Amino acid sequence: MVNDTTRLLGLDGLVVEGVEVDADGVPVVDLSTGCEQARCCPGCGRRAAQIKQWATTRPRDLPVAGRTMRLRWRKRRWYCPTAACPRKSFTEQVAQVPARSRLTMRLRQAAGAAVADGGRTIVQSARDHGVSWPVVAQAFTAHASRVLPDEPEPVAVLGIDEVRRGEPHWAWDEKAGSWTKTADRWHVGFCDLSAGQGLLAQVEGRTTAAVTGWLAARSPAWREQITAVAIDMCTVFKAAIRQMLPHALLVVDHFHVVQLANRAVTEVRRRVTLTARGRRGRGSDPEWRMRNRLTRSATRMSGKHVDRLTDTLEALPTRIGAPILATWNAKEDLLDLLATARTQPDREHVHRLLRRFYTRCAATDLPELHRLATTIETWWPQISAFLATGITNAGSEGTNRVIKTVARDAYGFRNPENQRLRTRTATTRRHRGHLNPA
Ligand SMILES: [Zn+2]
Repeated sequence: MVNDTTRLLGLDGLVVEGVEVDADGVPVVDLSTGCEQARCCPGCGRRAAQIKQWATTRPRDLPVAGRTMRLRWRKRRWYCPTAACPRKSFTEQVAQVPARSRLTMRLRQAAGAAVADGGRTIVQSARDHGVSWPVVAQAFTAHASRVLPDEPEPVAVLGIDEVRRGEPHWAWDEKAGSWTKTADRWHVGFCDLSAGQGLLAQVEGRTTAAVTGWLAARSPAWREQITAVAIDMCTVFKAAIRQMLPHALLVVDHFHVVQLANRAVTEVRRRVTLTARGRRGRGSDPEWRMRNRLTRSATRMSGKHVDRLTDTLEALPTRIGAPILATWNAKEDLLDLLATARTQPDREHVHRLLRRFYTRCAATDLPELHRLATTIETWWPQISAFLATGITNAGSEGTNRVIKTVARDAYGFRNPENQRLRTRTATTRRHRGHLNPA
């Protein structure tokens, strides 16, 4: 009964009776039912004996050897032998082609896997497989729930980060007479920074409750084995971790500290240009031309360029050059301090560098620097933990890049649940073995 063509096609329960090529050059595969189970009533399970009628269905399938083909399955409709059975009659079905399905299961699965594991968009997978958008969306959800673990594996270092989901919405507030934000949509992501599981989950909203809620839903044993948590300087996350993971070491990595210091440099530059020149910066202002060099690390520039930068600032009128130079120096002090990470610095050395930074900030009357010093002071325990461990939230940041790419490719998501599922399948592809060359 089983012939070579049947084996080649590999649709369990269906037998190839013959293949002919139609006028368009497309192979047409004639199929018959080769499965005893198909003769049994799905209602009562009894084997039918009396045929009601014959029917032909044309389920669509994956290409064979790169060629699209047409399936033509001639099947029977049976009378149920049980008089009391509500089914009365039924058509034959096999696992790959359920009743009323116009697609084989494997075509459906391939369309879903192309999105979840292959990184395709729903639209592209629909085009590739010749099916509709809703079919792929549904197949994707089914595939994702099959391949994504319900519970994350143990994590030693957890990363928490926020990512904006779409643009904030603004509305005119009549009473206040100003524009207010009506929707500021954020997702908070939990990332495995130690074992490479990728994104573990995302929750909606940037609140302490959102973070504690997800952590509370994990088992105490899972929470217990977390030794460190990397966050950005966000009090909401800090409060949540203190509450749910009091044993874990809280770490703030250099990335956000550097960002903060650079922002202070830019703010001071803009402010002094505005007050001294009475306008915004432009190409004829030396401080505007060096705006990018000011936020680059001096250790990454040649000595000649650093000299030229300080010379230019000193040559500027004092009320422009001096504040910028002071802020730039404070920023460089902070970078020197952060550079001690992963070098096993001794406490004395670190404290000397920290004191130099604080002294520099205190010696000026620049509010931007005072604010920066206050922030560093507030977060010093966590920054110090970064210097000691070298743990960074770079894994979360990398994940955020993937999240944004997925959102951009999809032209945004209307349904946040879909977005979270798509994001999770995309960010766990490596861990699930889909990006490995072998
Ligand atoms: Zn029956």
